[in-house]
Amino acid sequence: MRLVTQVSEVHEFIDECRVQKSTVGLVPTMGFLHEGHTSLMQRAGKENDKTIATIFVNPLQFAAGEDLSSYPQNLEKDISECEAIGIDLLFTPSSEEMYSQPILTSVQIDQLMNSLEGASRPTHFSGVATVVAKLFNIVGPCNAYFGEKDWQQLQVISTMARDLSFRVKVLGCPTVRQSDGLALSSRNAYLSLEERKAATALSRSLQIASENVQAGETSAVVIKSQIVDEITDEALVTLDYVEIVEGSSLITIDQISKGARILIAAKVGKARLIDNVDPYFGIK
Ligand code: AMP
Repeated sequence: MRLVTQVSEVHEFIDECRVQKSTVGLVPTMGFLHEGHTSLMQRAGKENDKTIATIFVNPLQFAAGEDLSSYPQNLEKDISECEAIGIDLLFTPSSEEMYSQPILTSVQIDQLMNSLEGASRPTHFSGVATVVAKLFNIVGPCNAYFGEKDWQQLQVISTMARDLSFRVKVLGCPTVRQSDGLALSSRNAYLSLEERKAATALSRSLQIASENVQAGETSAVVIKSQIVDEITDEALVTLDYVEIVEGSSLITIDQISKGARILIAAKVGKARLIDNVDPYFGIK
């Protein structure tokens, strides 16, 4: 595996790939890798000749007061995992390398950025879209892999790629969970043992909701109130929002039908956790 920190080194690698006519898959991450990340990398490895992973804790997507400075990191372990998976190039730029000048350009995706996560984190998705646009331009991948765990992010990036004609296929990958249902997240590292147990309320409430939808309930109001009740029972979990939307437009719906997505965000201790489900599929 080649380990590089400079954009010019990525370009050299990409030039070699072009000569060899190799297809390239990209997996952007913020590191502190877990099986959610590695599932994306494994899929990229299967579907492309060469796989590039990136580790960059992107300051643009954190607001003042969020966890930028304390975001968990373990670069040495991440490097060995990428090597073990068979990543061909791991790009770990510094902030100075990514933003050598104050950045004046940003990417906005109307209608998708201000609801749900965007309501609590107004500058977040512009920061995400901007850094992903930069990575798409630096790498020029054929395929790029993102987790359904961050459902709104996946819609934001797919829409950006479509609207701005990036020559990349944006592919969503299923959420990887622990055996009790909790979605893997680097931020789970913030949880105490008690909070970790309480955090299962998120996936449990989504599973109960899915079972009720599959049993025939279609009212979003009813399903949402069942989720609120389930979460409220857990003293250590504070619900931020639960919303039921049409999955790709993220428009709120009253009647649940195929294509719907239920999204939830909650604070557990100092961790802000998110999860989501296709109610006709459930938490698997
Ligand atoms: P992050 O390092 O949190 O920015 O995540 C990097 C990529 O991994 C994003 O596309 C995430 O959606 C994806 N990801 C994070 N957690 C999971 C998970 N539990 N299952 C699948 N993908 C995930």
